[in-house]
Amino acid sequence: MPTFIVLLGPPGAGKGTQAQIVSQKLGLPHISSGDIFREHLKNQTELGKLAKGFMERGELVLDDVTISMIRERLSRPDCASGALLDGFPRTPAQADALAAMLAEFNGRVNAVPYIKVAEQVLVERLTGRWTCKAQGHVYHERHNPPKVAGICDLDGSELYQRDDDKAETVLNRIQVYFAQTMPLIEYYQKAGLLLEVDGTQSIEKVSSDLLSGLAKISKSIA
Ligand code: ADP
Ligand code: AMP
Repeated sequence: MPTFIVLLGPPGAGKGTQAQIVSQKLGLPHISSGDIFREHLKNQTELGKLAKGFMERGELVLDDVTISMIRERLSRPDCASGALLDGFPRTPAQADALAAMLAEFNGRVNAVPYIKVAEQVLVERLTGRWTCKAQGHVYHERHNPPKVAGICDLDGSELYQRDDDKAETVLNRIQVYFAQTMPLIEYYQKAGLLLEVDGTQSIEKVSSDLLSGLAKISKSIA
């Protein structure tokens, strides 16, 4: 049976940071819906053109478009043994669609780590974030700086500040999270899948809590 893990948490909670670490430890591909959208934007595909306005405003891209993009990604061979999902699902409709598509792939959502961080911390985390151009690795100018300013430690590519990490867009993204994504906490709690992790700790401590929580849920997951 494949293993599918959904990372939940507000923008800036540390989902991408943890996914980088945890996906390697678990041997699961890291699937970030935001990274896939940004790749489409860069390549100016039809999907990229459609998503552009939503992303610039910090709104969610339409459910059906997002769901079919993720379906295509999860149906590729590297997801045969599962995946670590970051940024998807973000609405109850997306969560229902995920359950249905995983059932088709003979899988299900096995665990949902929820990285909990207070709202006040998020703005500072996002406005100080630097992202790698090649693969989306993330840094923070104070909390997690690269060894050489402006250069990714992992692949040597240039770091940039995302347009939607500007203060005004960040505030909208946080509001959108509260309105549209927060209901998923209860959704997955009711399903008995939620694993709450304190995201205000150091990056290393968050990873170790996350991995030990997953190991407790299932010896087959970690
Ligand atoms: P998300 O994917 O949830 O939007 P990121 O992983 O991109 O969040 O993290 C947002 C910012 O916060 C990045 O600049 C990252 O380096 C920083 N960060 C992540 N985890 C921590 C942590 N535990 N403590 C301090 N800063 C963190
Ligand atoms: P992220 O990289 O996760 O912060 O996502 C960046 C932007 O991509 C979001 O603000 C949305 O515009 C879009 N996006 C990413 N994931 C989704 C999703 N699951 N549903 C709708 N829009 C998404």
